[in-house]
Amino acid sequence: MSETIEEITSVMGAERIGNAPARIDWILTDSRSLCFPEETLFFALKTKRNDGHKYIHELYERGVRNFVVSDLPENGEAYVDTNFLKVANPLRALQRLVAKHREQFQIPVVGITGSNGKTIVKEWLYQLLSPERIITRSPRSYNSQIGVPLSVWLLNEHTELGIFEAGISEMGEMEALRPIIQPTIGVLTNIGGAHQENFTSLQDKCMEKLQLFKDCDVIIYNGDNELISSCVAKSLFTAREIAWSMKDTERPLFIESISKDETGTTIKYRYLGFFKEYRIPFIDDASIENSLNCLAVALYLMVSPEVIAERMLRLEPVAMRLEVKEGKNGCVLINDSYNSDFASLDIALDFMARRTEDKGRKRTLILSDILESGQVSKLLYRQVADLVHSRGVDRIIGVGEEISAYASRFEIEKQFFRSTNELLASGVLSGLRNEVVLIKGARVFHFDDITDVLELKVHETILEINLNALTANLNYYRNKLKPETKMVCMVKASAYGAGSFEVAKTLEDQRVDYLAVAVADEGADLRKAGIHCPIIIMDPEVSAFKTMFDYKLEPEVYSFQMLEELIKAAEREGAANVPVHIKVDTGMHRLGFAPSDMPRLAERLHRQSTVIPRSIFSHLVGSDSDRFDPFTRRQIETFEAAAADLQKEFNHKIIRHICNTAGIERYPGAQFDMVRLGLGLYGIDPYTNRILHNVTTLKTTILQIHDVPADETVGYSRKGVLSRDSRIATLPIGYADGLNRRLGNGHAYCLVNGKKAPYVGNICMDVCMIDVTDIDCKEGDKAIIFGDDLPVTVLSDVLETIPYEILTSVSGRVKRIYYQD
Ligand SMILES: *Cc1c(COP(=O)(O)O)cnc(C)c1O
Repeated sequence: MSETIEEITSVMGAERIGNAPARIDWILTDSRSLCFPEETLFFALKTKRNDGHKYIHELYERGVRNFVVSDLPENGEAYVDTNFLKVANPLRALQRLVAKHREQFQIPVVGITGSNGKTIVKEWLYQLLSPERIITRSPRSYNSQIGVPLSVWLLNEHTELGIFEAGISEMGEMEALRPIIQPTIGVLTNIGGAHQENFTSLQDKCMEKLQLFKDCDVIIYNGDNELISSCVAKSLFTAREIAWSMKDTERPLFIESISKDETGTTIKYRYLGFFKEYRIPFIDDASIENSLNCLAVALYLMVSPEVIAERMLRLEPVAMRLEVKEGKNGCVLINDSYNSDFASLDIALDFMARRTEDKGRKRTLILSDILESGQVSKLLYRQVADLVHSRGVDRIIGVGEEISAYASRFEIEKQFFRSTNELLASGVLSGLRNEVVLIKGARVFHFDDITDVLELKVHETILEINLNALTANLNYYRNKLKPETKMVCMVKASAYGAGSFEVAKTLEDQRVDYLAVAVADEGADLRKAGIHCPIIIMDPEVSAFKTMFDYKLEPEVYSFQMLEELIKAAEREGAANVPVHIKVDTGMHRLGFAPSDMPRLAERLHRQSTVIPRSIFSHLVGSDSDRFDPFTRRQIETFEAAAADLQKEFNHKIIRHICNTAGIERYPGAQFDMVRLGLGLYGIDPYTNRILHNVTTLKTTILQIHDVPADETVGYSRKGVLSRDSRIATLPIGYADGLNRRLGNGHAYCLVNGKKAPYVGNICMDVCMIDVTDIDCKEGDKAIIFGDDLPVTVLSDVLETIPYEILTSVSGRVKRIYYQD
């Protein structure tokens, strides 16, 4: 829905510089997501780490002409036909603009908050309440201070119901989100310990969340939760309450019984004196609770119990993830079965575009009809075609009657099929080669069948990498830094086993200052895959200097001899201005110059002009242990003195860094100009062994289950002696995959359906056996080797080693799957 620049200026109370006419359809806060420059208004947001003002010039070059800024660019006259709207705080201006936008709509709006289940409740409400209502909802989990305004901006003249989620991480934030969402129906899913860092108590957090509901007509929550009930009572809202309860018959929505069986759960309830029931195809407690919240909303909106029951039965699981997988014939598959609406299509296309920036790979989109958008199809598919063109898609494969009818709109290589089966039968899929393929379809189209055909199936054992958790860990450590402190992220050893490209790409997107790898080939691979960010090579080999110059990699320099070789090679290859990083040995006694070498080093560097000292650093020996604190402090002092000795011989600033993960946590005074984050990025706090946000999960599948009598043994050398009649499951993972052989014979366990299953007998090269006698499971069920509920530190403790070793031991033949919510 477009607004004129005049309206926008006045709503935000901005000072307008420039008088170019403009209508705005799109709001942009992340320059990398630009799609429709002419109709875009860019908000130059300042965060602790970054400043949107830096991207104004680049966006102008790409055609953007409307900017909300707090500071005008210096050479303002250079921007022709451009509007700058100057405000004190662009984020607040964005929020104010969208709050005003929201006010135009006199429609019911559901606001959902709580610690878990927000996105599922939102999507299920959508499944339950459409198609009669045209619904606008938050794309994916857009629920932050920026995500909420971007979501609510999507409200348009067709919308009949809005559903938005709101997430907060500190006090005061809900106050900003309430006027943007202005919910009429409030749903509080639950309150748990997630994102607790900035709240003093659960009660504080609950009270803060309830702020969203101050002006609601009705509030929906679990009346059996004492914390929530007491907070609601304290909030003194005048709104009607639908507190559902399984215990208290006085509550407006009384849940009489919940009965689970093999395939689902039947729930009986009483509302307004009527006894009714429904059934869902899920049996876990979280799904039941989510369905109860949805039930309350639907009843309040006067959906009949019969329609509710009919649709509850058809609820679909919500695929929260956008997955990247290896496909056949060199293809990369991006699988997004989240849903098929326009907003999430845009996000998925943006994701694809960023992952193929300059690898020259063909971008193919497999897209189904877009269902239930509430828009006139002609207009809708014109917009889809515009989006597809501007996101640089090279080929579209459309599936469905509707999208096929608008085939002519797409001016790129194209094929259309009336159904998924028709596409599968056509042979088109087996012709895909070395492409990046985005698979995006409404659920009724069963695009899983397409993924099945395209996916490379090598091994049942996979390592899953959660890219959101990676970012959350990065931000956790960033928050411990001074705003000006730079960061190197260590992606050596294939990003501690997680796989370097996707991890590096995610970090580059988060604008970290440097990446570091061990050897030149790792750096070259990242460059070939399209990583631009500066890369430090920690263990440069003399034989690889040419590779380093060719790919603009920055070596560490640790000795005079190595420095001579490097200078010689640089002169021979005609390389100039090669940045290098000087390593000083302050106690590790591994590699590095002695602190006393600095004057001589400075003198040598001045006598040549091919290499330039960019940074100076040292490595801490025992920053993760109190025992070594005096030694660590001495290392820091020695380093500081050596760095000063070198710096005083140069005019340009030489960046200083010494802290690794534990150093960041424990020596905030030793940040100098930069820090090097390693293990913490992957979610492990080396000081406490605590898991921050778990990034990697190693999982596999039960191949076979045997009933083995007590007098038999399991595995090689008859080591697996049984003390009772047992059920023994076989897993396709062995020591060649990185499952350490010393975990066998009951020394450790994996998780099957949440329960501990000990390893029985010796672990073999490619398989192992586990005891599942007491676990309800079947062939094909998953087994977690390590992951969310079984931290990798449990295994490293058993093996008396460090988590680093477990992570980096997962062998290359284990397929990596990356996902983000
Ligand atoms: C690996 C490495 C780091 C990162 O250490 P963590 O303990 O994983 O944070 C930092 N500096 C150097 C020189 C390293 O080799």
